[in-house]
Amino acid sequence: MSTYQWPYPNELNTIEHVSCDVLVLGGGLSGCFAAIAARKQGLDVAIVEKGAIEKSGSAGTGFDHWESACTNPCSKVTPEEIAYAYIDEQSHFSNGIFHYITCREGYDRLLDIERMGGKIRDTEDDFQGARFRDEDTKLMFAYDYQNRFTLRVWGTTFKPALYRELKRLGVKIYEHVEATALLKENKHGAGAIGMQIHTGKLYVFQAKATVLAMSRPARVWLFNADQPGLCEFRPFQSIGSGHAMGWRSGLELTMMEKSVRAEFSAAGRSFPPYGTGNNHNTWYAATMVDARGVEIPYVDRDGNELTDYYARYYPSQGQKFFLKGGVIDEPKYAYRGPETLPFDELIKRGYQLPFYADLSRMPELERKVIWGMMVGQEAKTNIPIYHYYQTRGFDPTQHRLQSYGNGWQSASFLDQERQFFGAPGGLMHDWDLKTNIDGIYACGDALFGSDCAGSACATGHYAGRKAASYAKTVLMPGLSSEAIDKEKQRLYAPLEHENGLNWKELNMAISKAMQNYCGASKCDALLLEGKRLLKEYEKIIVPQLSCVNPHELMRTHEVLDILTVSQLVIEACLARRTSVKALNFERTDVHSDAPQQHIVISQQDGMIHTREVDLDYYGDLKENYEKHNADDRGESNGI
Ligand SMILES: Cc1cc2nc3c(=O)[nH]c(=O)nc-3n(C[C@H](O)[C@H](O)[C@H](O)COP(=O)(O)OP(=O)(O)OC[C@H]3O[C@@H](n4cnc5c(N)ncnc54)[C@H](O)[C@@H]3O)c2cc1C
Repeated sequence: MSTYQWPYPNELNTIEHVSCDVLVLGGGLSGCFAAIAARKQGLDVAIVEKGAIEKSGSAGTGFDHWESACTNPCSKVTPEEIAYAYIDEQSHFSNGIFHYITCREGYDRLLDIERMGGKIRDTEDDFQGARFRDEDTKLMFAYDYQNRFTLRVWGTTFKPALYRELKRLGVKIYEHVEATALLKENKHGAGAIGMQIHTGKLYVFQAKATVLAMSRPARVWLFNADQPGLCEFRPFQSIGSGHAMGWRSGLELTMMEKSVRAEFSAAGRSFPPYGTGNNHNTWYAATMVDARGVEIPYVDRDGNELTDYYARYYPSQGQKFFLKGGVIDEPKYAYRGPETLPFDELIKRGYQLPFYADLSRMPELERKVIWGMMVGQEAKTNIPIYHYYQTRGFDPTQHRLQSYGNGWQSASFLDQERQFFGAPGGLMHDWDLKTNIDGIYACGDALFGSDCAGSACATGHYAGRKAASYAKTVLMPGLSSEAIDKEKQRLYAPLEHENGLNWKELNMAISKAMQNYCGASKCDALLLEGKRLLKEYEKIIVPQLSCVNPHELMRTHEVLDILTVSQLVIEACLARRTSVKALNFERTDVHSDAPQQHIVISQQDGMIHTREVDLDYYGDLKENYEKHNADDRGESNGI
């Protein structure tokens, strides 16, 4: 350890044993709901979170809209319509189970959160009379004002409410503990190992069922050592630990070959998300203008220019509904037209750079709901954008906000600068959200094809109750002391070297390797070279890693997980033999129109296993949901 005074006690080599019925790894939206649902079945539940649950995870700083609330009293769509629309929109490289659970149960979770103290209605009547508000329920809607299935919510209030609920229910809470490895007895999940990130103490969690809720990979292609906290869209501490420890334990993953050209962040490359002039997501449907102040018109699905301002929020003639929001990259159902075209196309049409969002031209309540409600509630916008811009004099009734990059983005990225974004790959599962290992479940952004807050809450609750039902049927598994010793050695190894390489250097090396050898265009020659290089890092750089305190040790563990994830991504790319547009997967060396399936990938003792699974393996959504949830449909039934 270093010579300067570390403010926490040194608990290295101390091991605390904890046993519980259900263990939840990750205390974001999905993990909190998993723990709450399992606890409500009367079980002994523990939740392990690397940060502080009240503010951790993607939604810790808030979020502004809740998708697919198909069962809310104002909705004019069915869960089946929206779930299948997403599946079609993603060309069936999509997670039907995940979407259907969201559409079926999402609104119930919102009611749960409201009872816990979260804000989901305009109770102060700030938006009385607005077209997006229902006067009876005071619910507020976004995007499609006719069909009313996306709600505007006060997401900053949700995590504190969930945290209070965990405490009220008596869930055992382990904060500032990173989960590092899964434990198994024979072929069953048996719990996990974790490390206290301030003191270095180890935890052995023994559990009948374990739920993985640690989000998705990041910093695989994007890393900047000077501004590491700004590298990615999702929070810094979420780097796909669940994927990495799952891979090491033989869990199956799918769609891991999918990545998209980066859209946000990358440390100083872009302006903050939602902090520039755009009309996407939080900023839908901001009025966009060019340098001369000429308005860039919205058009409908059929290419008709919209002259009535409010037509932006209604489906076009003959269109039942439209999807528009955070998870859609190329929405088939959304309004398309000049406002979604890249800058160069708009310039060809005579518009002049720079472009701006001009809220001053919008109806007052539409402006107010973007600037002040959405910008402010959306994660990461409250302080850096809403608060700072206003303190520096930004007034949305007078000022325009400039757009940058290509399209309405905050920067333009190179093709090889990639991200897990827009329903990326993740853990494979069945209708119980169970992985291929008995006793291990997954939820939220950890699932393949996942994306949003409502889904995280809905799948978290669902996985929690399925894990609880399973835990009631099994005895407490035994633990292997050999596995615990091996993990202890792996975790502490970087403390044994002085003046070695640090985690930032390895992260930088990995992201360069991934940009060079697993960028936008793929072929075996490049991928195999990437695989060789990462193996070399494992053999040569990893043994040289060093750190000086438990915090740095945790950062080092994260990059070791990033290395595992990168290796797994390359294996997934090697396994997919032909290009697939829906996965943004382009091979330059093999061309074929063969029908495509999911490639499910896992490893056992270093041997890679793959199997093909039908894209629609979940079958009829409604029928299968009913079959698997005959006893408990997850209705909100009070606390
Ligand atoms: C800027 C931003 C804006 C967004 N806006 C919206 C929106 O408006 N609407 C919407 O629907 N969705 C939105 N999303 C997406 C939504 O927030 C996420 O899909 C959702 O919160 C995912 O929940 P989760 O529980 O799966 O993951 P998270 O909430 O990210 O939670 C994962 C948790 O696991 C913890 N963790 C990670 N690794 C470990 C480990 N090894 N050990 C222990 N704990 C660990 C993390 O600290 C974190 O608390 C937004 C996301 C971002 C980043």
